[in-house]
Amino acid sequence: MHIDPQTYTTGLYCWMGLAVIVFVVLLKVKAPYGRHTTKKWGPLMNNRLGWFVMELPVLAVFSLFFFTGDAEKSLPVYVFYGLFVFHYSHRVFIFPLLLRARNKKMPLMIALLAIFFNLFNGFFNGYWFGHLNTRIYEISWFYDWHFIAGIMLFASGMYLNMASDQRLIHLRNGKRTGYYIPRGGWFNYISSPNLLGEIIEWSGWALMCWCLPTFSFMLWTMVNLIPRALDHHRWYQRNFEEYPSDRKAILPYLL
Ligand code: NDP
Repeated sequence: MHIDPQTYTTGLYCWMGLAVIVFVVLLKVKAPYGRHTTKKWGPLMNNRLGWFVMELPVLAVFSLFFFTGDAEKSLPVYVFYGLFVFHYSHRVFIFPLLLRARNKKMPLMIALLAIFFNLFNGFFNGYWFGHLNTRIYEISWFYDWHFIAGIMLFASGMYLNMASDQRLIHLRNGKRTGYYIPRGGWFNYISSPNLLGEIIEWSGWALMCWCLPTFSFMLWTMVNLIPRALDHHRWYQRNFEEYPSDRKAILPYLL
């Protein structure tokens, strides 16, 4: 498959334009999974299986296009690839097993929409690094401020994301089911530090790679997760009278 750079770039701008539209929609319509699951979105499927099936395509598509193209790949490019694969290997193979949600369901439609997103995201990033990238990332890129700041953001975002997901998942220790007020760590400041962590992580990746497709992924992550954090925050406030009033949704002290 060959796509010329101009067609690719036009497609990428359309993809980013779609992100803006989806953002406006998600500010009005709650994504119906997790606590917001509803049967109005059609048939449901097993939650764990859903996570596995919907996140796997991005690993496959990104890797396929990354390795089949003949763009020059220096060590920094393999580092970009490795970090992406590290995150998604955890998301696909480990995260679903950590969930404490026996018999929990999600709408099949959510899994299909996520597969759609992951196919395009995997394509745009994989095709770029595999086929179209002409920039030579010399070893000296490791000392460039983009890389240094980017990898620090990536690592701290990943830590915040995973540690906060763990804290949430452990709220259902033992036989506990349902939802509880999370406390400790960044939960003292915001309702969804796990989602903020994911945004920081992909912002760091975009910074260290410093090219348009990686910024499109950062944009889409914000589009998916900022409205979700706002929905979670309102849900907590509605469902827990004692919910800390000084806690924000996703940005400490601000939002
Ligand atoms: P949530 O914060 O909604 O839930 C995370 C897990 O914790 C779920 O298993 C949830 O259970 C459980 N949980 C959450 N709050 C509570 C609570 N108060 N009491 C008890 N259990 C709780 O995160 P998401 O499901 O939206 O996302 C999961 C991961 O996927 C995150 O790391 C997120 O960053 C990432 N993600 C990334 C996207 C991207 O575009 N890059 C898009 C979507 C997600 P339950 O499912 O039963 O609600």
